Amino acid sequence: MMRTVAIALAAAFVPLAALAEPCPGNPNALRTERVLEVDAKTTPRVGRKHFPTTLPLRRKELVLTFDDGPWPATTPKVLDALKHECVRATFFLLGRNTEASAALARRELAEGHTLGHHTYAHPLLDKMSLAKAEAEIDRGIESDDYAVYGQRRSEPLVPFFRFPGFASNKALLDRMAERNIVVFGADVWASDWDPMTPEQQLNLILNRIEQVGSGIVLFHDTKIQTAAMIPDFLRELKKHGYHIVHVVPAGARGVLN
Ligand SMILES: [Zn+2]
Repeated sequence: MMRTVAIALAAAFVPLAALAEPCPGNPNALRTERVLEVDAKTTPRVGRKHFPTTLPLRRKELVLTFDDGPWPATTPKVLDALKHECVRATFFLLGRNTEASAALARRELAEGHTLGHHTYAHPLLDKMSLAKAEAEIDRGIESDDYAVYGQRRSEPLVPFFRFPGFASNKALLDRMAERNIVVFGADVWASDWDPMTPEQQLNLILNRIEQVGSGIVLFHDTKIQTAAMIPDFLRELKKHGYHIVHVVPAGARGVLN
């Protein structure tokens, strides 16, 4: 059993080994500064928008996260921009979208990103029965992991989860902690659920990042305005001295060494 898990983890995180390499074709790339292992035992919930604590990040360190994909019209543009800058992000997948666009989810994995979970169909879970809410969470995890790794499992290979609409409750948070699944909130978000031009979107998120200084940034890779501004956004981060931190599950790096 342990061997199977180790092999699966190694397959999921092989691109990590490339972190120290230069960024091909882009000498001024933002790049990924460092890898941070995240463990539910020490940080079960992260993101100051809803929780008292966040990841142990230094000044000007950012973790980039994208929700609700994969989405064929927009996710490839986000991936192209991240690849051009050699930046690794975390995608919180929707099971129904992963099912429909499995190749795109596998591209995210192949390009070194971390794939977390975001339910199957994006219902708000806080008002449901615990059993129904957990079934929805598990259906998402199973769909994601089957599409990406070819393994149908309810205990996720990458135990990172974000609640749709941040709608959680104590019982659900307790369950996630019992299952050693890290619940990701955010420290700053792009409000990209509101329609605006890519320029407005870029200015809004850069201003908000400047205010918080560091933290987990939330985007939606399903949004046209977001996909359009990500190349400029990454260049601006580099210009202003920000550093990108790539989050992985606890133990994922050790598998490689
Ligand atoms: Zn969402």
